[in-house]
Amino acid sequence: MKYFTIDELSYSQMAVRCGLKNIPDKAAVRRLTDLVEKVLDPAREQFGAPVIVSSGYRSPEVNRLVGGVTRSYHLTGRAADLVTGSRDGNRRLFDILTRLPHCELIWENGGRWIHVAL
Ligand SMILES: [Zn+2]
Repeated sequence: MKYFTIDELSYSQMAVRCGLKNIPDKAAVRRLTDLVEKVLDPAREQFGAPVIVSSGYRSPEVNRLVGGVTRSYHLTGRAADLVTGSRDGNRRLFDILTRLPHCELIWENGGRWIHVAL
């Protein structure tokens, strides 16, 4: 893992605000690591500028609070929501991600963020 950390992928504003733990188990850490090595790091490398993870791993409680779907890949550490700071940046990152492994790639909320899952 070059550009991302498990801590960064497990940080949740909602969890902090509600005093909840949002700690991935070993299996989820393995999947997050896989996600970084196969998707996020290569995408960041090609993008050439900072990529921010707005949501990675979510515990069931955090997922419920943020209104995530019941079977969300965020629950198992297979998904991340990404932002770059601009719509154009998001568009460019999305294009890069189309050429990398994924099982879900979603242009969320008119491009406000990108959801990617492996
Ligand atoms: Zn998502």
